[in-house]
Amino acid sequence: MSTTIYHHATVFTSERDHRTAEAFAVTDGVFSAVGTPAEVRAAVGAQQGSSQKAEDAGIAEVDLGGAFVAPGIIDSHTHLTTFGESIGKVQLRDCNDLDDLRGRLVAAHRADPGAPRVLGAGWLFDTVGEEHPTAAMLDEVLPDVPVYLDANDLHSVWVNSAALAELGIDAHSPDPVGGEIARDADGEATGMLYETAGRQYAGDFLEKASTPDDHVRHLENAFRAYVESGVTGATDMALNEADVAAIRSLIARDGRLPFPITGHVILEPGSSPEQDLAGIENIVALRESVGESDDAPWFRIAGVKFIMDGVIDARTATMREPYANGANCKPIWSAERIRPVAAAADAAGLQIAMHAIGDRTSEMALEVLEHCAAEGTQSPRRHRIEHLESVTDTTVERMAAIGATASMQPVHCDPAIMDNWMAVLGDERQEQGFPWQKFREAGVPMTLGSDAPTAPHEPLPNLYIALTGGSSLDPSLPPYHPERAFAPDEALTALTAGGAYAGEMEETSGRIRPGLHANFIVLDVDPLEADPAELLENPVHSTFVLGEELYRAR
Ligand SMILES: [Zn+2]
Repeated sequence: MSTTIYHHATVFTSERDHRTAEAFAVTDGVFSAVGTPAEVRAAVGAQQGSSQKAEDAGIAEVDLGGAFVAPGIIDSHTHLTTFGESIGKVQLRDCNDLDDLRGRLVAAHRADPGAPRVLGAGWLFDTVGEEHPTAAMLDEVLPDVPVYLDANDLHSVWVNSAALAELGIDAHSPDPVGGEIARDADGEATGMLYETAGRQYAGDFLEKASTPDDHVRHLENAFRAYVESGVTGATDMALNEADVAAIRSLIARDGRLPFPITGHVILEPGSSPEQDLAGIENIVALRESVGESDDAPWFRIAGVKFIMDGVIDARTATMREPYANGANCKPIWSAERIRPVAAAADAAGLQIAMHAIGDRTSEMALEVLEHCAAEGTQSPRRHRIEHLESVTDTTVERMAAIGATASMQPVHCDPAIMDNWMAVLGDERQEQGFPWQKFREAGVPMTLGSDAPTAPHEPLPNLYIALTGGSSLDPSLPPYHPERAFAPDEALTALTAGGAYAGEMEETSGRIRPGLHANFIVLDVDPLEADPAELLENPVHSTFVLGEELYRAR
């Protein structure tokens, strides 16, 4: 048995009373005591048997020099392989304008002229201006090599003509259910693939073009970036078969993952209601196969993910009232179509997660969960609604009533990316987005995540936005409705224990509590006391998983 006592620190435990401690002990990868240094030493002594001297019993002591310690962050909404893959793509989030964006693509192509495609990620509609992006805009600089650019929100793909040709998209290609190929008056594709059109045409094509080894490499990139930023747990929000295979082969190769994860398998509307129900059966079988294998300590399939609508920026989120330009958009799943599918998932014990951004969609998601609750014969599960960007007060109250978790991403309302979001709504709704304070006041279970790669994955900038409503990308910008902001202890709890609760991981992680995995981070800045701006200047000092230091800043 080996024990380390860490002392001389402010230890934020994420316990419900938000208490802090000064010391804690880790024994064989698990927290074994928390409290004052005297309490911790006494508890460790009692565990070891009082006859042994500390050195003989293998007890080490580490003086943390007054540092701040918190449970490791749990990113409760992420996309591990796409995040890891996006790290290798041309980064477009901070482009100033269309010329800047095109310049970066051309530079990437010149740097690697033999690459079969130019892949970019993170572009914002604001960058392109008033018009919607077109293939012609890209053809001007890259006419021959296929170009695929994931929108920042991952809900649409912008391609050039060479990519449209490689995908075989022409005037006869149908729009899939829940998606659209942007077209001109003659029906010819103009370069934007929205929602399921992006996933089913471009996504599936690129998926086939990549190898299982590529997937494993993407995963490794994602885990490395996470550990270096203080994340020690995650819920993947849109697993497909290739993702699951990559996760399992990484475990097979290394005997572990850097940290344990859970995930939701995505289910898109099939060609028939029977196919939808078969999709649920497949997920249940996959969950059992993983759960019964040696992968179980590292990877658990929590449930199913339904993408119910799109995003406000592209006007593909379904609103109760139309957008400023008079448009609106149908949800991807109709109420009639999803009800039996969700009920089957619920009855099979799957946790349901529903992407719902528009205020009409979150109402619909709630109707589905209420239907499950009314039909359900099993104990209530921690169903969750993702994003909730524009949401009515009634929806918040109803979520509280059935205990549905609100899973939200402060990085999605960074004021630096809000101009287009506000403009497309264009009325009082643009001032009422992301109402965190209403969820808190209503007592809705909350978890905060990043939704990487749709937004930066680092938790400290995310925490900064949660604490201020300000921009981590450009802190000089005025905050977006700071009255929504979290108190530091509330935000830290939502980033740790909240993620553990939402991902059904609280029996192993999310708090500094005896018996839980010793996953914790050490910071040079105390978020409970410091000016939040310091969070942007002081990266994570070190990250521990199961008591082992996996990362330390140099
Ligand atoms: Zn997501």
